[in-house]
Amino acid sequence: MTTLRQRTFQPASRACTGRQTTIHSVCGYCATGCLLTVQGAGDAAPVPEGIVNTGAACPKGWEALTVLEAADRGTHPLRRDERGRWHVLSWAEAIHEFCKRLQSIGQRFGPASVAFLGSGQLPTEEIAFLGSLAKFGMGILHGDSNTRQCMASAVTAYEQAFGFDAPPYCYDDLELSDVLFLVGSNLSIAHPILWSRIRKSRHLRRLIVVDPRRTETAMVADEHVALVPKSDLELFYGIARVLLERDWIDRGFIDAHTRDFDAFARHVRTFSLEQVAARTGISPARIERLAEWIHTGERVSFWWTMGVNQSHQGVRTAQAIINLALMTGNIGRPGTGPNSITGQCNAMGSRLFSNTTSLLGGHKFTDHQHREKVARHLEIPLESIPTQPSWPYHRILEGIVRGEIKALWIVGTNPAHSWIHQGFFRDVVDRLEFLVVQDMYSTTETARLAHLYLPAAGWGEKEGTVINSERRVGRVRRVRKPPGEAVADFTVFRRIAEAWGCGRHFKHWTSPDAVFPLLASLTEERPCDLTGIQSYDQLETAVGIQWPFPASAAVRDHPSTTGRRLFEDGRFYHADGRARFVFDAPREPLEIRTERFPYRLLTGRGSAAQWHTQTRTAKSSVLRQMAPTSVYVEVHPEDACREALRPGQTVIVESARGRLHASLAVTPTVPRGSLFIPMHYPETNRLTHAAFDPESHQPSYKDCAVRLRPLEPWDGV
Ligand code: SF4
Repeated sequence: MTTLRQRTFQPASRACTGRQTTIHSVCGYCATGCLLTVQGAGDAAPVPEGIVNTGAACPKGWEALTVLEAADRGTHPLRRDERGRWHVLSWAEAIHEFCKRLQSIGQRFGPASVAFLGSGQLPTEEIAFLGSLAKFGMGILHGDSNTRQCMASAVTAYEQAFGFDAPPYCYDDLELSDVLFLVGSNLSIAHPILWSRIRKSRHLRRLIVVDPRRTETAMVADEHVALVPKSDLELFYGIARVLLERDWIDRGFIDAHTRDFDAFARHVRTFSLEQVAARTGISPARIERLAEWIHTGERVSFWWTMGVNQSHQGVRTAQAIINLALMTGNIGRPGTGPNSITGQCNAMGSRLFSNTTSLLGGHKFTDHQHREKVARHLEIPLESIPTQPSWPYHRILEGIVRGEIKALWIVGTNPAHSWIHQGFFRDVVDRLEFLVVQDMYSTTETARLAHLYLPAAGWGEKEGTVINSERRVGRVRRVRKPPGEAVADFTVFRRIAEAWGCGRHFKHWTSPDAVFPLLASLTEERPCDLTGIQSYDQLETAVGIQWPFPASAAVRDHPSTTGRRLFEDGRFYHADGRARFVFDAPREPLEIRTERFPYRLLTGRGSAAQWHTQTRTAKSSVLRQMAPTSVYVEVHPEDACREALRPGQTVIVESARGRLHASLAVTPTVPRGSLFIPMHYPETNRLTHAAFDPESHQPSYKDCAVRLRPLEPWDGV
């Protein structure tokens, strides 16, 4: 076992290379959390000593600094007048405008009339400052984060099953499994560094990919389970039934560490294999074989991403995966676990500190003792803490439509591109009295709609910490100055706090490194306890530290600090220490295909060179060359033939909500009757249907009904 001491590297993170200072920083794109060497002049490169990436990075990491030099970086605050013309403001004028307009709306319509939307791209200190300033300082009731779009189903699934939002694994488990399931995850392009760890495993006997598409990842798996889209819940219930009937379960683990198994067993017995096969397209014999792989595996792990989370039943599907792990005792041991891989670089920080669904530091708004603890630590009045969590993202937007919310403050996210059913979002924005957008770029689809734009520093231009998918806290570093008058979001929040008149609540929030110990102290005795981390320097020396990391020396000196997994003692976070089997009847998809709209549209990541709305990645000439610059649609050859369409032809894809023009890519990797369009193009969400998981309120991006036809002369271009 590698010890903490062995895995630290010397000299620490700052080394002088000639005239330039080299600094180590966790990458600011995905939640893998690769450690990069960054230099102010524009170079970024993977760090060989990085525990996570061990000297490798995907193209986005190599190009991480280049995108900061884009010509459309916001350099000054801007106000848009009634005729749509932009006017440059000083920061004093901009902050005055911000406070005057929002306070006026709040006074006229009440505290629920202003809302905010944050981002899992911000460091934890900024996420916490936004949520605390908005709720405890400005009196805003409702706010959410763009993490609702990618992680909410996993969060809810873990909370209900384990008693806390706790992804249980460490990345070492990727290399320690002998049977490994990837569910709804195109890992080779979405998380290429994690994929490389699977590829170098010496233990893996069987890699099974469950995905309707024959993705780049599925192509090299030992087994591709190409199920009917959105039938994964039934598939996992069918597998559970086989495990149960063959008595391939870990009765000792179930009895000692779980609850509600008998009810779950009764539930899955109602799913005959013939019925599951008819729904999923996977034969009974194949379902039995999948169960057999789980049974014969010594260390079985299940990893999932957006194919599960972004669904009308994402929570129950994630829990069906969790149930397979629990009933077979594949949790809390090396190479096991029901493991959700996070998307954004600090989605995990947002989950704990955004102050939206949960109260700062992994607490509950509804718990009086939790509110008292947070008020005491932050030295703020107890009454300033709301007693209920925020409305989720889509309820906030619906509140705008109803006229209850009049102003929206959007920080570091681009919903005019990324939100499901874009036409609805545009309608929402039109109803706002005041929209503020705070972002690195003044040209995002959302920033262009703002009444007030505030220019923010980006990754590489500010300090803080992020938490990666394996719960590892690491540092992000400032290596260059932001352009013009742009400042770190942290600085914007400080200026707002002073101008708003609530600066006294934030007297300790002077800098990210001053805030970090405050946030760590808040987590005391919570499952995410970070009280053992005393300083940023400690994070750097250890090359990141996973939570929990309480202040007790016994844990701090634990030899496996660099690769720890949860639940090794079989104790979960519910009061009785037991995990729950949670299950439900499958729900029908919320938009049914019809004769008029006969295809099912799947959306997802297009390539390793593209990130979400391409706000940053499109700024790199290197990354631009690695993926098509304009929207394309993938269609199965038989469907293309039936529609008399040729590869490369411009087609129209249309749903009940909108249409787009796309170049046709004919490929057998998509199932018959389905189309695939990457999410990175601004047109994609013109088509998607605003359906949500009822538990997590996460949008279901991967299932709407569309039609496909050639571009006709009367369509225009
Ligand atoms: S985007 Fe993700 S995989 Fe790529 S370098 Fe950054 S952290 Fe690593």
